Amino acid sequence: MNNPFEDALLQLTRAVALRPVREDVLLRLRSPEREVSVAIPVVMDSGSTQIFEGYRVQHNHARGPYKGGIRFHPDTNKDEVRALALWMTIKTAVANIPMGGGKGGITVDPKKLSPRELEALSRGWVQALYPVLGPRLDVPAPDVNTNPAIMAIMTDEYTKLTGDTTGATFTGKPLDRGGSEGRTLATSLGGWFVFDVLRDAFGVPAEPTVAIQGMGNVGGNAARIFAQHGARIVAMSDSHGGIVNMDGLDVDAVESYKQEHGTLDGFPNAQRLGNEDLLELPVDVLIPAALEDQITGENVGRIHARMILELANGPTTPEADDALFARGIPVVPDILANAGGVVVSTFEWEQNLKGEHWSEADVNARLQEIMSRETRAVLARAGELGTDLRRGAFVIALERLESAMMQEMPRR
Ligand code: GLU
Repeated sequence: MNNPFEDALLQLTRAVALRPVREDVLLRLRSPEREVSVAIPVVMDSGSTQIFEGYRVQHNHARGPYKGGIRFHPDTNKDEVRALALWMTIKTAVANIPMGGGKGGITVDPKKLSPRELEALSRGWVQALYPVLGPRLDVPAPDVNTNPAIMAIMTDEYTKLTGDTTGATFTGKPLDRGGSEGRTLATSLGGWFVFDVLRDAFGVPAEPTVAIQGMGNVGGNAARIFAQHGARIVAMSDSHGGIVNMDGLDVDAVESYKQEHGTLDGFPNAQRLGNEDLLELPVDVLIPAALEDQITGENVGRIHARMILELANGPTTPEADDALFARGIPVVPDILANAGGVVVSTFEWEQNLKGEHWSEADVNARLQEIMSRETRAVLARAGELGTDLRRGAFVIALERLESAMMQEMPRR
């Protein structure tokens, strides 16, 4: 298992090799500005108290308040959250939205908690961290295993503790609790807009075959959106494994089967396959939409996709990036491909602060404009530099971050 923060630093180093930045800028980007670890006590349904470890890493605020999700996962740890926070700083700069980068998490398997325990844990995270959160300071959102209901609970707790009634401290809230139209679909729809700009450049057929790893909010909605646009979804998976049918899966049928049975086991007219095998299918588009460290030096030789669209954060290691680039398999990096979520989060924050509510058509039109423009910019920059899209995106982000930091730091 690669250390994700080391991978993130390596990506930074590799981009700086192509486009040097001031040394003090690089030093600051290598060092998260603030990291907080907290112990969250929860009275369990059994009556005993259990302590959970929670985190918030505030990586960089040169371009705006810290911004990024909160992840509940048994494997979540400080190094992972640090990497995810650095990627948020780069992602908000690539999207050119007025936000910095942060990330949070709790080491927990939320599937093992009752609804009451989950609520207590979510409130506990806010009780422990509220002094470092706020609309002008740090604005969390959902990530793996967190959702609008949890954002509503956290907003409620934050309001009780601080009296802040803007609702702008958390994004990804339910619609009737200050959420934005379009936020739930935003990461997947943003990924579609990015793909739509790039498909011709990469010679992807009009009705591509697609394999998607992950059936959370992002993977599930990506399957639906790609299918609506004529793609053939041939494989889908959850954390236990996947199913494949090269003739195509009925996405809605797969989703309802999973809802009803809690598993993909026994889904008719499809073969079972492991999550690693899904990555190796000969498809036009491979969409990792689960966790980091999936396409690595070990399995990269067996990847047969025509292109990779990273809707997960950090699914491809730097070693795999190089091998894929050498083989001419483009990787559309997370910091561009999945930025739609944080873009609409930023719209939500703006609506909360202004007391506005935008229509879904308005949100999606603004999202498309940003995603298409920045995708073209990344493609052009990678072409000019003769490098991959990840480095192209990092270089654009570094220029924007450097110029923001130069306003703050004395010139030498
Ligand atoms: N968790 C999402 C991400 O990784 C969204 C973050 C946000 O909306 O702030 O980009």
